[in-house]
Amino acid sequence: MRPTCLDPLFAAVTTLDGVGPKVAGLLQTLLVRSGQTLRVRDLLFHLPSGLIDRRRREEVLSASQGSIVTLTVRIDRHLPPGRAQPSAPYRVFAQDETGEIALTYFRAKPAWMENLFPVGETMLVSGKVEWFNGRAQMVHPDFAAPLAEAENLSLVEPIYPLTAGLSGKVLRRAIGQALEKTPDLSEWIEPGVVRKQTFPGFRRSLERLHDPADGAELDPASPPARRLAYDEFLANQLALALSRRKTRGASGRRLEGDGRLLARIKHALPFDLTEAQASAICEILADMAKPERMLRLLQGDVGAGKTVVALMAMARAAEAGVQSVLLAPTEILARQHASGLSRFCEAAGIRLDILTGRDTGRSRADKLARIESGETRIVVGTHALFQEAVAYHDLGLVVVDEQHRFGVHQRIQLQEKGARPDLLVMTATPIPRTLVLAAFGDMDVSRLAGKPKGRKPIATVALADERLPDIVRRIGSAIEAGDRVYWVCPLVEESEKSDLTAAEERASVLRQFFGEKVGLVHGRMKGEEKDAAMAAFKEGRTAIIVATTVIEVGVDVPDASIIVIEHAERFGLSQLHQLRGRVGRGDKPSSCVLLYRPPLGETAAARLKIMRETEDGFRIAEEDLKLRGEGDLLGTQQSGMPFFRLAKLEHHADLMEVARDDARLILATDPDLKSERGEALRTLLYLFGKDEAIKLLRSG
Ligand code: ADP
Ligand code: MG
Repeated sequence: MRPTCLDPLFAAVTTLDGVGPKVAGLLQTLLVRSGQTLRVRDLLFHLPSGLIDRRRREEVLSASQGSIVTLTVRIDRHLPPGRAQPSAPYRVFAQDETGEIALTYFRAKPAWMENLFPVGETMLVSGKVEWFNGRAQMVHPDFAAPLAEAENLSLVEPIYPLTAGLSGKVLRRAIGQALEKTPDLSEWIEPGVVRKQTFPGFRRSLERLHDPADGAELDPASPPARRLAYDEFLANQLALALSRRKTRGASGRRLEGDGRLLARIKHALPFDLTEAQASAICEILADMAKPERMLRLLQGDVGAGKTVVALMAMARAAEAGVQSVLLAPTEILARQHASGLSRFCEAAGIRLDILTGRDTGRSRADKLARIESGETRIVVGTHALFQEAVAYHDLGLVVVDEQHRFGVHQRIQLQEKGARPDLLVMTATPIPRTLVLAAFGDMDVSRLAGKPKGRKPIATVALADERLPDIVRRIGSAIEAGDRVYWVCPLVEESEKSDLTAAEERASVLRQFFGEKVGLVHGRMKGEEKDAAMAAFKEGRTAIIVATTVIEVGVDVPDASIIVIEHAERFGLSQLHQLRGRVGRGDKPSSCVLLYRPPLGETAAARLKIMRETEDGFRIAEEDLKLRGEGDLLGTQQSGMPFFRLAKLEHHADLMEVARDDARLILATDPDLKSERGEALRTLLYLFGKDEAIKLLRSG
């Protein structure tokens, strides 16, 4: 049960003065995801984005165009709109020693204006100054009070992100009440961390941010801001640590082997494993040999060679006498994996089958029978595999490729199959370490840094799309010389024609130059057609493949050495990086042409610049995080709500690791959160809505 001390924070917002159903509705859209209950707590967690400091006074003459200033002025005269022009603005003229300014109001009631601005009164007004024909005016000042009164008002006022229809004043008032209702909670952070980081208490930190003495406190680097970020990280990491403890349990199994199959595969590989691959394999095999379940994330940039690592793990599972499943996000990828792996599996005498939605009738029945009997050791397929009644003889290992396309939902479905199999998740999205911790804190991580030896760098250029004819010419000579080219057409914006049409049109234009050499693959093609198009490209029967972005993450055509990306400005950084990774896989030098439509926005320009500067996926991911915050990387863009509310990953990343270590330490020393600090930590979990995690605590 939630501790009663939190009750005031979990009350409905309508318990606050000035918050009726209408305002509550606005707050609901502003503060929480749809379907979630809005609480007083959510107001507390809505931090200001800036502040107005009215202590700094300026003079009329020196106030610059467009700046927000606070002036001390004497009210001179009123100029209401004339009868002939009732829609004209109401003006109040005021002045200081340096000049005159008009305070302008539209649709103002004269009585209200006279009351607010008594002639002769010295007042403090603030708002945006506009100069026109040598005259200054301020339209709807956002603050106006007699000087004598203003001295008693808070002159530093936080500014909050708002939504249409909600005024800053109403919001500030509601937040003020929420603060008053905030109880003093016992400290849940380890005293050493509190000291080292000079963290103020939880309540104190909220007060300092919502009622800042100056801008310095709103700085993400200020102790109160860091304190709250840490609280959020700690709740997140503690919840993940609890779920990790639960899913691991002791009910995994040891998967060991004599290395016979591994040796045969190694022998059959046309290359030596890189050091990074060897050590990732080592970590994975060690996990598999442990009695606990493996939950491991294998992170490796596009082309880093993750598939072989997975193969080794699956071979070990076969040695241990259990089956493995390799899940790919798409049919094309499943087929590619199956055909790439079957060569080595044959060499090792491991039976591999591919099972997708496309298998029907007799062949499907045969495959299902082989899987059930245990004859098939490795099953490759799409996640559809898990939504159906496929019975395994003994499933011991699940490998998921390209995690970022799998949601949490699939992950759960997957856990339910098989007798708690070991889990290896491979992702080519080079998620920065902080995000790995935030999203997968329950998993161990192996990283495949760098690429296999012998890879040539990819020359990347960004060109305005008017250069298209040049590109077409250059591609002509490249394919003469035997090069293979990807041509990517992006998803188009709604108002335009469909992305399919865009790709079809591009293909037909290119066919005017290169005829039969041009292939096309897009999302709405049937499975077999896609395969055929990809196969033709892979085998060199076509030299250019025009694709919508479906050119699947992970498709491997080592001979392809050029990629052209149209409307590159519409792609996110990690998408561009993924796409570029289609080339540079063989031993030829490769190039990537980013075509954009000018003018480029600031962010788009920054993205293209980074693409030209580096090929390092991890650096790109870090830059991406800086450019747009964590949102999309964690797939939270759709909901419009950030993954963290108080913490900003781009500023507080260092605290995440501290929180992770702290969470693990806590559970090691106080596994049931029974100590005094443990109790406080339970409160923390409730505060951040981690009720699920607390259930884990009680049941196990
Ligand atoms: P990804 O990590 O993107 O899934 P893949 O596993 O598809 O990468 O590997 C990309 C390419 O690199 C494949 O053609 C693969 O055969 C090759 N490859 C993998 N490991 C090595 C290695 N150690 N040396 C040379 N080439 C390798
Ligand atoms: Mg891959």
